[in-house]
Amino acid sequence: MSRTVLAAVMPAPHVPVVLREFAEPELPPGAALLRTARSEVCGTDVHLWHGRLSGVPYPIIPGHVTTGTLDAVRGPLADVTGRPLREGDRVAFFDVHRTCGRCLACTAHRTPTRCPSRRVYGITDSAADGLFGGWAQKVYLEPGVTVAKLPDAVTFDAYIGGGCGLLTSVHIIERSRISLGDTVIVQGAGAVGLSAAALAKRAGAGRVIVIGAPADRLALAKQMGADEVIDLAATSPAERLERVLQSTGGIGGDVVIEAAGSALAFEEGVRMARNGGAYVIAGHYTNVGDSTINVHEHINRKHLDIRGCWGSEVGHFLRALIALEEYADEVPWHLIGAKTYGLSEINEALADAAALKIPKALVDPWRETYR
Ligand SMILES: [Zn+2]
Ligand SMILES: [Zn+2]
Repeated sequence: MSRTVLAAVMPAPHVPVVLREFAEPELPPGAALLRTARSEVCGTDVHLWHGRLSGVPYPIIPGHVTTGTLDAVRGPLADVTGRPLREGDRVAFFDVHRTCGRCLACTAHRTPTRCPSRRVYGITDSAADGLFGGWAQKVYLEPGVTVAKLPDAVTFDAYIGGGCGLLTSVHIIERSRISLGDTVIVQGAGAVGLSAAALAKRAGAGRVIVIGAPADRLALAKQMGADEVIDLAATSPAERLERVLQSTGGIGGDVVIEAAGSALAFEEGVRMARNGGAYVIAGHYTNVGDSTINVHEHINRKHLDIRGCWGSEVGHFLRALIALEEYADEVPWHLIGAKTYGLSEINEALADAAALKIPKALVDPWRETYR
């Protein structure tokens, strides 16, 4: 007798998410079934809902970063270090479940996040293919998915509070090449900016300045490790630049991290970096239009190093777990997930996330009793 699994399905952009029942899948060798404890509603889900990502095979079950307990394992199944995984283990999995390993991006260019065959849970798999998203009571972990045990010190809420923004931030820090004592400016106090600030501090930054809004997120940024915050809503671009220059002895930041997703943020950010500094762009996950800068003044003469940062790899996932464990007592990742919603409240969660009411909405698919 096959059991059923309840999931929230996004049928198409701009229409309400609906609840559907799926049959529990048969597991081929090497596969597992995850009982979802927490998933998330992140900016990507809002973009999916607004139809701003191309090539999405709607209907989909969103929720690309998810954690829970192994419900069924058709083993042997092991984590990336070869340790066996068993039913009942608390785990997380890396959401990119396929890259081809053969294309230019995967091989010669070593940029697997740009592999054209890349498949990501909650984004690139149709609901017709099964339980490939975290807005479901159970998630199908196909053979080959990178699964890792959640360290004992890491709660489900801390893992998902960090979530995709934390994985992105590990990649940002790698791209930033922060040196001991650097001043790092973070533009944006959303899930990515908050984690980037926390990690920049732990990566050796002497001073971390976060620019964002509203006030409660800036307060959280300080709890995460920011030394100084600048309220986006209460300052003009000129005032923000002046504040940054004041804090850096008139020099500018060694590293500026864009985690705001705004064309105007780029125009400000290049001005805030010091001569010979670096600017890492991570917030432009969708096309938000053109930025206007003077290339002579802000890039060439400044000798500025501008680096993009797209997606994440298994190494970022594993290092995110290390960071969560290592800094469990000092970085309140769980506070980023401000509110938890059940599956029947997903439309409300999406609306709250779209309105930027909260840094991140968490999803607990077992929160309500449905029948
Ligand atoms: Zn490839
Ligand atoms: Zn996400």
